[in-house]
Amino acid sequence: MRVEFDRDACIGMYQCVVEWEDGFEEDRDSGKAILIDGEEDTEDVYVRDVPVDAELDAKFAARACPVDAISVYDDDGDQVV
Ligand code: SF4
Repeated sequence: MRVEFDRDACIGMYQCVVEWEDGFEEDRDSGKAILIDGEEDTEDVYVRDVPVDAELDAKFAARACPVDAISVYDDDGDQVV
């Protein structure tokens, strides 16, 4: 499973941090979240693999985001959230 984070879309509500505390952290200076261990894929879009034991948390984080800045993909590349 893979998570994709559109940092440009993020408005810093930090629900993702609550849902997946090992995946996202607050960056109060920029008013946006940080995808922990994320690599920049395209400009301001960060990706990383999701550990098996964090898949549920990653999906909850994606569902909780009010601006759909977080997407989750299965191993076939299909978007699940
Ligand atoms: S929930 Fe969405 S808008 Fe809020 S900090 Fe996380 S990614 Fe940004």
